[in-house]
Amino acid sequence: MTFRSKAFEIAQGRVSPVLTPPTEKVADLYGSNTFSDDVMKTLLSAEAYSKISNAIRSGSTIDREVAEEVAAAMKSWAISKGATHYTHWFQPLTGTTAEKHDSFFDLTIDGKAVEKFKGSALVQQEPDASSFPSGGLRATFEARGYTGWDPSSPAFLMDNGAGGKTLCIPSVFISYNGEALDYKAPLLRSLVMLDKAATGVCQFFNRDVSKVTPTLGIEQEYFLVDKALYYARPDLLMAGRTVFGHNPARGQQLDDHYFGSISPRVNAFMVDFEFEALKLGIPVRTRHNEVAPGQFECAPTFEEVNLAIDHNALLMDLMQKMGDKHNFQVLFHEKPFAGINGSGKHNNWSLSTDTGINLLAPTSKPKENLRFLTFLMNVVKAVHDHADLLRASISSAGNEHRLGANEAPPSIVSVFLGGELTSMLEELVNKGEITLEKGENFYYKLGITRIPNLQRDNTDRNRTSPFCFTGNKFEYRAVGSSQNSASPMIILNTIVANQLLDFKREMDERLAAGEEKKVATVEILKRYFLESKNILFEGNGYSEEWIAEAASRGLSNIRETFDALYAYKTDKTVAVFERTGVLSSRELHARYEIELENYVKKLQIESRVIGDLALNHIVSTVVKYQFKLAQTARSLTDLEMLAEAEPIKEIIRDISSHVVVIKKLVHEMTESRKKANNIEDLFERAKCYGSEVKGFFDEIRYHVDKLELLIDDEDWPLAKYREMLFLE
Ligand code: ADP
Ligand code: MG
Repeated sequence: MTFRSKAFEIAQGRVSPVLTPPTEKVADLYGSNTFSDDVMKTLLSAEAYSKISNAIRSGSTIDREVAEEVAAAMKSWAISKGATHYTHWFQPLTGTTAEKHDSFFDLTIDGKAVEKFKGSALVQQEPDASSFPSGGLRATFEARGYTGWDPSSPAFLMDNGAGGKTLCIPSVFISYNGEALDYKAPLLRSLVMLDKAATGVCQFFNRDVSKVTPTLGIEQEYFLVDKALYYARPDLLMAGRTVFGHNPARGQQLDDHYFGSISPRVNAFMVDFEFEALKLGIPVRTRHNEVAPGQFECAPTFEEVNLAIDHNALLMDLMQKMGDKHNFQVLFHEKPFAGINGSGKHNNWSLSTDTGINLLAPTSKPKENLRFLTFLMNVVKAVHDHADLLRASISSAGNEHRLGANEAPPSIVSVFLGGELTSMLEELVNKGEITLEKGENFYYKLGITRIPNLQRDNTDRNRTSPFCFTGNKFEYRAVGSSQNSASPMIILNTIVANQLLDFKREMDERLAAGEEKKVATVEILKRYFLESKNILFEGNGYSEEWIAEAASRGLSNIRETFDALYAYKTDKTVAVFERTGVLSSRELHARYEIELENYVKKLQIESRVIGDLALNHIVSTVVKYQFKLAQTARSLTDLEMLAEAEPIKEIIRDISSHVVVIKKLVHEMTESRKKANNIEDLFERAKCYGSEVKGFFDEIRYHVDKLELLIDDEDWPLAKYREMLFLE
């Protein structure tokens, strides 16, 4: 019995009930494991509570005494709920989350046991930074790095299974010199800038707006594979994706998985991780089967961007842990299986004011719609002017399989607005006026009285667009499923903030010159529309025609990660980031290097896995099978059944032809990897990996997948696609 068939047997027999059936109403358990506003209100003095609320709302600094009081309250709250340890919880540029647990337990000078958690430990900690990527921001001898408490994201209790919970304090992570080594620090800076810039523009329309909060709802796609089968695939284990595997006879062509009924086993997993997520204050709402077999989606209700990103990172961690309990491996890789859909992380983004307005929602009042169009056009202009940078922010070895691969957003950045909006903007340009009314035409008349009129969205959907307007928000669909959303959100927030600053400056100049406000606004928007029109695209983003048309419009189509990342380094990018103070040119450069290094490492691992699997698993198995065939052929020949022996010899020859090519290609790939590894310059090394080493992957795969069809199913060593994907 092969390892594979044993794994399949185990996987098939599995049932898994819901482990912790929710006993309370969701509304009662929601946030129960967070140091929430309610908890603070109960445990803190009125003065401390008001100071911390202020810090959360307007970013004011928290003084030592308040920190001391908060720390004491956090400690007693956490211990009362079973916590033994605390940690700053942060998001280094590795793309995962990091934690280093310290015990509350301590000894006094005279040896007595106490439980301690001081204000200073809440505010700042010092993990050794030398093992996290810094992109040259820190020489190895400067190991110091600091984490600093982010009061705007509530502390929470992480349950690590067997006994003991840990109090986790969301934090930023910076170097000894104060340079960002994480995602959160620049994200927070970008949010402050965007608030400032957007509030400034709001003043032209609504004087009472004093704060603008960017909002984000993240739809997370993922695959589930049974643990036993996962362990029977060294490539999944090492690289997160299958490097070989022939397509099953039935893939996703019947469209029968999307929104299909959820199997009991998968449902039990979902119920469990959602239950834990809700306790951590993650507002998970939507769950469904995705397009590909074995693929699913989870989406929470949108929140303030910083919170939404922390929650997504936490959710991914939680899903992995809950997956273990249900014997599932959660795959967040952008393309775990060839030939069927990959996974993304759709970032739904909008801007909302402290007066309750969604700035990207059209309304029925013309004046308000001028405000709506102002924000809409500023976003479009920002995306137009910095399309390459947005493209850079979602570049990775994994996402490369999706972008431009005819099933996910293409690598060309375009914006979808929908016919109605586009014609409105054209009307604005031609007539200087718009007539947007929310009347009959915005509703579908169903003609069935029992069903209320369904409000029709102002825009249709376009699943092929990387960046589309969906009625009251933009949806950035090209983001990779495994990446930290902060990376694209830092870019989006910053380019929009920068654009709004430009808009305000021009408005101020025009108003000072005596121009009427409405005229000035319309004039500027008209120009923006004309300048950024070529990025608007309503058609099929996957089509060949679009590639040609985009080229004729002069839009970039950057397919390779190593080329895409270059946008982090351009003078244009540096100027925007220094103007807004979100990232210094050194910090930008560091990010560029880290991403490139990441890319090299991922391809290096994949290449090694391919070589190892091809020679040590596939070729060795195949040769044994050939021997069996040869024995059979010889027996037939001995019996003088020459005609019968012929087809068997034919298979042996077929197999040999693939084996010969595989051996040759693996050898060449290894040589090209050696060559790449010896290249000093990081960009050139990445380029060599991306354009030479990677070139062998699909070629080798082709021959291995052919062998999968030739070898006896019993003998094949790797779990097959049909086994991994169609498990109920
Ligand atoms: P679909 O798959 O149809 O695009 P989903 O319901 O799966 O829609 O996800 C839509 C996401 O957009 C949800 O997370 C939702 O909370 C979020 N969203 C809705 N309104 C806003 C908004 N104003 N700002 C940010 N995100 C929003
Ligand atoms: Mg969705």
